[in-house]
Amino acid sequence: MPSGAVVEERRGRYPSGTPSLGADAATLAAIRIRCMGCGTPHPANVAVTVCPRCGGLLDVEIPLDTRIRPEEIGQGLPSALRASGVWRYRALLPAIPDSAVVTRAEGNTPLYWDDRLAGYAGLTGGLGVKHEGHNPTASFKDRGMTVGVSHAKAVGARIVACASTGNTSASLASYAATAGIPALVLIPEGKISGGKLAQTIAYGARVVQVEGNFDQALTLLRELTAAYDAYLVNSVNPFRLQGQKTIVIELLEQLGWRVPDAIALPGGNLGNTSAFGMALADLLRVGLIDRLPKLVTVQAAGAAPFAPYFASGWQTYAAVSPETMATAIKIGNPASTPRARRAIEQTEGIVTTVSDDEIEDAKAIIDRVGIGCEPASAASLAGVKRLVREGVLGPDSRVVGVLTGHLLKDTEAVIGYHLRDRDGAARGQANRPLTVPARLDALERVLADALHG
Ligand SMILES: *Cc1c(COP(=O)(O)O)cnc(C)c1O
Ligand SMILES: [Zn+2]
Repeated sequence: MPSGAVVEERRGRYPSGTPSLGADAATLAAIRIRCMGCGTPHPANVAVTVCPRCGGLLDVEIPLDTRIRPEEIGQGLPSALRASGVWRYRALLPAIPDSAVVTRAEGNTPLYWDDRLAGYAGLTGGLGVKHEGHNPTASFKDRGMTVGVSHAKAVGARIVACASTGNTSASLASYAATAGIPALVLIPEGKISGGKLAQTIAYGARVVQVEGNFDQALTLLRELTAAYDAYLVNSVNPFRLQGQKTIVIELLEQLGWRVPDAIALPGGNLGNTSAFGMALADLLRVGLIDRLPKLVTVQAAGAAPFAPYFASGWQTYAAVSPETMATAIKIGNPASTPRARRAIEQTEGIVTTVSDDEIEDAKAIIDRVGIGCEPASAASLAGVKRLVREGVLGPDSRVVGVLTGHLLKDTEAVIGYHLRDRDGAARGQANRPLTVPARLDALERVLADALHG
């Protein structure tokens, strides 16, 4: 039993909902959240993240009964919302009142086309990479967080909480600080990168290292937030997924609504896979696209419960004990599995795996061409390369891969790859700094070598 002081705060002991919303309170209450499991609808003016009746995953229902023309996007919005690469697609998002929106002008991320990356993957049809590392806290998590924390603010949450492999915690800490709401973050002890931990601490979240892995931390937090009035912002939170939909919406807008053959992304907790499926279904419904690309979810081989589930024709699923250097996808029992399955089925998509060596190799190439990303992001390219080699994707396919996080998120991985030998030899792309005496002739030799070697 928790201490008496904590028990005072048990769920329902104090009123939730914010009187400060005024007339907007009705707008909030009109948003419907429906359970994927039992179909029960719930109102959105309370902090529900899983179905109170059956524990199932929840979907926010967006009423999309009219067609949307490209030129209508973002029209009539306040400038702070129009400046956000999430909120400018408000017509496709939950109607959280403007007064509760917490935004840092997230999204608006670049789409790069690089022939060297296409060549690496074996594609002649073109390979684009959408770089979600160009968000305010340098991962795609900001797109979900702006909607999740806005909803938390709208319902009057007094504290927001998440368990995280690092990027969710950095993002939550930033958005909670922006909103002025305290944040509680659970991380698996010693298993997240220094950069992500530094962001989370710096933005002022209360950080708790749990002696266990990510899945254990999330299970604990779900128990805690079920019993107490703390707002859970993990990707089981249906509002976060709504924000993450905008990765695909913005991508298709950048493509002039011309649908690529496939969109590849790394899969960890599978929130993003789920969100991408929802985005594509929404875009089809409002007539902004006329067909669906294949979603390609790529898991690290050592943390891949979803891939064998797909390969078995959705017959057998088993959680795994996760092991991979790509910490952002080191998850053994993804919380969004049923939603992600729906997304793969809807798009006739593919789930595949890549080894840590393939991830590191692909990352070294993405870095080397000047783009850069964190290890998990490189699973996108590694997975596409593998599928082209296996003949699952035709070489003339036009593919976009999503780079989920920035290179600086995991500098330990960069240093490890370039500076440390493996099996007694440097890695293929290893680039080691030189040390020279402070003399011109030493530098001249380096210059000659750089020019000719
Ligand atoms: C969170 C994260 C992922 C995994 O996304 P899921 O929605 O959990 O599947 C992949 N890459 C990076 C960089 C992330 O931060
Ligand atoms: Zn239910």
